[in-house]
Amino acid sequence: MPAQPILHTERPARLLVIVAHPDDADFGPAATVSRWIDEGTVSELVCCTSGDAGADDPETDPLELAAVREAEQRAAAEVVGYREVHFLHQPDGALENDLPLREALVRIIRTVRPDAVMTSDPTHLFTADGFVQHADHRAAGIAAVDAVYPAARNAMAFPHLAKAGLAPHVVRRLYLFWPAEPNEWVDVSGYVERKLHALRAHVSQLRDPDGTERRVRERLVEEGRLVGVEAAEPFRVIRIER
Ligand SMILES: [Zn+2]
Repeated sequence: MPAQPILHTERPARLLVIVAHPDDADFGPAATVSRWIDEGTVSELVCCTSGDAGADDPETDPLELAAVREAEQRAAAEVVGYREVHFLHQPDGALENDLPLREALVRIIRTVRPDAVMTSDPTHLFTADGFVQHADHRAAGIAAVDAVYPAARNAMAFPHLAKAGLAPHVVRRLYLFWPAEPNEWVDVSGYVERKLHALRAHVSQLRDPDGTERRVRERLVEEGRLVGVEAAEPFRVIRIER
């Protein structure tokens, strides 16, 4: 943690959020994104998988589960205010930062042309208190980072895209949520309920909705205390070009 936790005061005009699973964006940065959308940011969401392995019963039909989870994510995205949700239909539990995934992300980045991309911190592997990061979260995060830099801005990366009219695009800022080493916090006072509302859309994933709600609320308040506000979400913010 930096010596003095910093309250982040910038707001991207266009934001692309890239996650592994339906619900990651809502457990992750939903309060920040809701606030920014209310203030004028245009944001779209990419889910690399449709969460087709997110159940305890091995008899679950993965395609049926994927359809349920896509519907849940679309409902949550409506609460947050995303303009569009993209599903890349990669396999849940087997997401790879491979060239086809990076190409799909570059295609979306060059279409949406965001000034910032937000994704899960791919460097966050463990914490001392027993947290282990899901491999898909790391894969989505590193694929998003690699797509931002250098692929999206390089005309020679996936050259057929530029030839087809998808011009290179420079993303200037990365926001990594669930950060190993947060360096800036976004004030989300007044947006806690909105985040909880979005989370409640993920009915198939909430075994103990009240407990989840309590933990999420406590966490936002704890993070807020670090920067002297009612509630905050932490990020590792990387300015690729100042
Ligand atoms: Zn996840």
